[in-house]
Amino acid sequence: MRPSFIPRLVNTELYDPVVYVRVLNEKKAVMFDCGRVEGLANREVLDLDAIFISHTHMDHFMGIDQVLRIILHRRKPLNIYGPEGITDKVLAKLRAYTWNLTKDYPLEIYIHEILDSTIRSTRTRAAEGFDTALRHEEDRSGHTIARDSRYLVDAVILDHNIPCLGFVIKEIVHVNIKGNVITRRGYIPGAWIGRLKECILSGETQTLIDVMTDSGIIMTPAAELAHELIIATPGQKVAFFTDIACTKENIRHMESIALDADMLFIETYYLDEMREQAIIKGHLTARQAGMIAGRLRAKRVFPMHVSPRYHSMLNEIRAEMDIKE
Ligand SMILES: [Zn+2]
Ligand SMILES: [Zn+2]
Repeated sequence: MRPSFIPRLVNTELYDPVVYVRVLNEKKAVMFDCGRVEGLANREVLDLDAIFISHTHMDHFMGIDQVLRIILHRRKPLNIYGPEGITDKVLAKLRAYTWNLTKDYPLEIYIHEILDSTIRSTRTRAAEGFDTALRHEEDRSGHTIARDSRYLVDAVILDHNIPCLGFVIKEIVHVNIKGNVITRRGYIPGAWIGRLKECILSGETQTLIDVMTDSGIIMTPAAELAHELIIATPGQKVAFFTDIACTKENIRHMESIALDADMLFIETYYLDEMREQAIIKGHLTARQAGMIAGRLRAKRVFPMHVSPRYHSMLNEIRAEMDIKE
């Protein structure tokens, strides 16, 4: 399966845990947490649809200012999702600056506060100096907090002595093309395949696609092409869990959204020798993270957010997690 999500640990395993996820073939990306983000190119920041904040300790939240600086002229809105209190904290950041020169700027920011049974959304605009906020509250049932034509994001509220969100991004369905049929039918691969995938994912199955063939362009309905060319398989799943205590309740919540994840990004703050400190601070040890990866049946595991005391001991961290690759 050719992956649709390309995740990148922006600050390596050692520093602020930030995972940038690019959506293949689209000017779209999401990011999990937003500590230091100097490792991102401006164009990567400009592609961001949404930032998902686990909690607002500084190492997970301070990069919002830098992102804002880069996207200030942007037409596409930015969505920020976070735990209880995120609305006031984002608005407080915005209100720290002077905005008398932004009246013509189209940027809108939507802040989504994830609570037990509701999502509280707030819109604020550069044109109004981020001074007014339009609020909207919606019941939350199930785990999904964000939807796009290519992905959805599920969240759970975990315990880090404060509410801390854990996230999974899921591809809605993975569309595979039968290469052998393309050749047999005399079709010539080209941009029309991307267009066909788009139509399938957005449900526009009656759209006519200009198919390039040996004998010229043939207009064919997407539904007909889908029938002969496409196999849909379960989509890719990438999980992000950081700053959590190793409690039964937290594990149960993680299992509810992240079983069989293709990629798991998980904090490994301490070695197991510090497990008592880990419980007090609401962090995981590498051994605990490895155990959770096993419980989730994660296919690939990436440690992150290693405490400075272990920065020269990454091999020990990986060994304790029992990572083979
Ligand atoms: Zn924290
Ligand atoms: Zn942290």
